[in-house]
Formats: sequence, C-alpha cells, structure tokens
Amino acid sequence: MSYVVTQNCCNDATCVAVCPVDCIHPTPAEREYSRTEMLYIDPQTCIDCGACADVCPVDAIVPGDSTAPDVDRYLELNADFFRRNPRDAPAAAHVQPLPASIATAGVADPPRLRVAIVGSGPSAFYAAEELLARRDIDAEITMFERLPVAGGLVRFGVAPDHWHTKSVDRVFGRTARRAGFTFHLGVEVGRDVTLDEVSSHHHAVIHASGAPGDRRLGITGEDLPGSHSAREFVAWYNGHPEHVGRKFDLSGKRAVVVGNGNVALDVARILVSDIETLRRTDIADHALTALADSEIEEVVVLGRRGPEHAACTTPELMALGSLPGIDVIVDGAVTAGPEASAKMLLLEEYSRREPVPGHKRIVLRFDATPQEMVGTDRVRALVTTGTDSGRRTEIDCGLVLRAVGYRGLPIDGLPFDPVSATVVNIEGRVVDPATGSSSPGQYVAGWIKRGATGVIGTNRWCAVETVGSLLDDFRHGRLPDPAGDGTDLAALVRERCPEAMDGADWRAIDRWERTEGRTAGRPRVKVVDAADAARIALSARASGVPG
Ligand code: NAP
Repeated sequence: MSYVVTQNCCNDATCVAVCPVDCIHPTPAEREYSRTEMLYIDPQTCIDCGACADVCPVDAIVPGDSTAPDVDRYLELNADFFRRNPRDAPAAAHVQPLPASIATAGVADPPRLRVAIVGSGPSAFYAAEELLARRDIDAEITMFERLPVAGGLVRFGVAPDHWHTKSVDRVFGRTARRAGFTFHLGVEVGRDVTLDEVSSHHHAVIHASGAPGDRRLGITGEDLPGSHSAREFVAWYNGHPEHVGRKFDLSGKRAVVVGNGNVALDVARILVSDIETLRRTDIADHALTALADSEIEEVVVLGRRGPEHAACTTPELMALGSLPGIDVIVDGAVTAGPEASAKMLLLEEYSRREPVPGHKRIVLRFDATPQEMVGTDRVRALVTTGTDSGRRTEIDCGLVLRAVGYRGLPIDGLPFDPVSATVVNIEGRVVDPATGSSSPGQYVAGWIKRGATGVIGTNRWCAVETVGSLLDDFRHGRLPDPAGDGTDLAALVRERCPEAMDGADWRAIDRWERTEGRTAGRPRVKVVDAADAARIALSARASGVPG
C-alpha cells in the first residue's frame, strides 16, 4: 500500500527532496508545478518508506490504508494524476533538486550578508530560512512585522478549521530561533523607520508584505453596509488586531459569496459551520460569539463562469462535501464527460445530491455575473445576470462577501504595476519599468511579487528564486556594504518604538496562547489585542522565562 497526499498539501515540496524513488510530482523543477493544486504520489512507484510523511510540515501525507478522511478518494486522485501525466520510468535511486540552502557546502570564513525582510508571513520566513540555512554565507536577518504578532497569512489567512495547514508555523518558529535572526515586531517600515534607514543597515531588503488590499467588482452598491470583502471577514474571524471591532450582520437567513476560489469556500464554510466544531479551533473569540448567534442558513457561492472554471481546488471542494450538517448543492445540472477532471466529477456528484431537511446549505451557482447590489441603507439583494444566458436573477440576502481576490498595495519608493498589483520585478529583483535597470538591494517575494495566487508552500519556491537573485548580486559585488550594523539599527528601533517586541516576546505570546488553548481543548486561544500581547510579553520578561 503506497503513501498518499491528502487535503492539507501545502505544495512546499519538502517531501520531494527526501523521496528515494522520485515518486512525488510535480516537482518544483517541473513545468506543471506552477499550476498544480497539490502534489501527488505515484502508487506504482512508491516503496512505502514513509520518508515523505516524516518531513511533511502539515501532516498531509498518510499511508493509503489509514483512516484519514476521504483517503480512498485521495488514492484515486493521486493515481489519476499519473494516468493523465505519464512519465518515464524513474532512476532506481533518484536525487531531487534541493533548495540551495540545503545543498551548499560550507566554506572557511564565509562572507557576512545582512538582509532585512519586511513582513513575517510564509514568503518572509521561507526567504529567511533559505538564507540562514546556507553554509557558504554568514547571513544575518532582521525581520520587521508591523503587528505585535507574526505569521501573516498563516495566522490571519488560513481558516481556523484548517489547523493542519497552520502547523507550518512550527517550521517558521525554528527559523526564528536560528543564530543570526533578529525580530522587530510592532515596527512598520515606512512609518516607524524609513526604507532608506533599513536599507542603509543591510546589504539588501526583501519586501514580503503580501497583498493587503482587495480587488473590486466595480458595480453599483458595492460599498453598501452589509457588503464586505472576504479578506475583511477572514481577518476578523482570524483575530487580526486591526479587524477585531468589525461587525458583520449575521441576522439574515441567506448570505452571498461572490467568487468561487478557495477563499470563497473558506468563508462560506465558516458561515455555516457547526459552532461546536469551531469552538475546537483557534478562531477568535469575538467571531465565535457572533457566529454562535448567527441566523444564516444558506450561503450562495457565485461563479461568473461555468463549473469547469470553478477557481477552488479539488481537495477543498471535496472536503466541503463531507461537512456534518451541511448540504452542498449545485444549482443546475452538471454533466461531466468521460475525460472530466476530478473537480467536475465532484460537482456532478454534488449536483445530484438531495437536500436533507434541517441541514444548512452551501449552494454553488455558476454562470452568474454580479451586476448590482440593491438596497438603500444596506444590502437587501444582489442582482446577477447569466454570463452566457443573460438571464437576470435577484438573490435576496443580508450579507455579501466579495471573494474576488486579494490585491497588492504600492510600497513607497518602489515601482508598482497597477494592473497586476505587484511591485515590478524580474525573478524577485525590483526593476524600474522605464529603464529595466534594477533598484540596487531591493527584492520582493510572495504575493507582492507574483500576485495573490498559490498555497502556503508555493511561497517557498518563490522565496528561493528571490534569494537566488539576491545572492547572485551579492557575489558579483552589486550590493554595497551597509553603513550601519545591527546594533545601530536596534538602537534606532528602540528610540522610535519603545513598545516594539522581539523574538523572545513572540515566543512568550505563542506559549501563552497554546497553554490557554490546551486548557480549553483548542490549538491556541488567540491574543487579538496589542495591549494584551504587550502585557503577556512583559510578564514573561519579568518572570525571566527564556524565550
Ligand atoms: P482566486 O482563486 O483567484 O478566485 C477568485 C474568484 O473570484 C474566481 O472565482 C474569479 O472568477 C472571481 N472573480 C474575480 N473577479 C470577479 C468579478 N469581477 N466578478 C465575479 N467574480 C470575479 O482567489 P482567492 O479565492 O482569493 O484565493 C487566492 C489564492 O489563495 C488562490 O491561489 C487560492 O487557491 C489560495 N488559497 C488557498 C487556500 C487553501 O489551500 N485552502 C485557502 C485560501 C486561499 P474567474 O475565475 O471567472 O476569474
């Protein structure tokens, strides 16, 4: 019985590097990797050694005979990938390409390289790890996070019921403990310290600040009360300190989610999830209280195109269909042909399901382009037209969540492309679009580099590429030596932000959250208030508990 990759796959490909028989694909070196939903294990080649499962940071790989949810479906999904993408017989013992960090040989007296990283999400930490793990340079990393708690998308984006995915934070915790890593939390580059000040203390700066804005629908009524971006809702239920006070009207029977990507499925699921299930997650307490009183019974998820273009991934769609007490219904017929994808087969299966009386519902509706939000003082309905049919439909609802994509925001001093909402770059090097010349020492990684797409582990290879460009510039003498060192910078940060926290404070807060969580039967109880975070950190400092 082979091992099998299941729902939580984060695509970071740690498993690929340890597989002795090259049975996990697509690898980051293969073309399909950039568009794959997940990685797959070839059951014909797997030798059942379990090395991949041992290293998987999110526990997505299980033995094929395990009792994990939907394991039979995943066995079929894994096998199907290799039926559709046949490949040559692998060499008996295959060595996969490794991130350069792991592959580098140590050198005597390695050169010192000081890099600042702005942001503390997945791409920030993967870049830090890629630099700190190398043995041919002596890297020093200064990471800046404007919030008092770290984690970016892992903490504030991943849905609370996806706790396996969140466990990748263990990997980031290990990076933050490496020699040469300095953390400044509660410090915003561009507000508390300027980019010039940060740049002058480092050889290079990697901007990994994500995509903190929203794409717009551009329709009438979009800004009526009751219409919110899904990003705001996600930030609220995940305890983002800047979204704690938001109010979402959950008193109506129906909500509409525009878009059918994974964010749309996340917010739809959270809106109708069983409250006792949510109580066992790290969802923010204020959201738990509000959702416990929610009257919402039905969430309509709108795709403007047909089912074959649904933007969600197959594993997320599959998991949606087995939630207790929730019917997933496809509005209209779906016919999957003989060569149909696993996603189309699932949608066809859902389209044949009968609703169960008393269940809540997620209704997947296709060919429905939003035209207008109707209401005077707040949203009362959403009007759609059939993209192909032109049929006009008015959907009564009290809440609309627009899950049509996140959007990067400009960074002062860096060239920005408003169309892709990314900083203009080539392989992570920031470049001037007019001249094509690079901005010395400035790099980007993650969503601000490539746009808001991909799962957590996609950021690993994105960061590896950026670090590759940075090191190439360093080796060729294109990065001038910094004028100041880490001590000067720490003094500047202390002067400007006396309340700033460091890595030890972060670990103290993490410890507090997990301890509270253990008592409550949850992975953690999130601190959502900056003052509370500071109090916990100060108390840990006072008690002398090592960070
Ligand atoms: P997404 O996958 O790009 O989906 C955006 C959706 O919005 C699509 O259905 C798109 O339809 C629709 N849309 C865009 N503009 C529209 C308009 N003007 N009118 C109507 N619909 C419109 O974005 P996302 O859901 O925000 O996810 C971002 C990335 O994060 C994705 O790569 C996703 O897989 C990842 N993510 C992963 C997970 C997970 O692994 N569990 C969870 C959350 C997010 P069209 O296709 O027709 O353009």
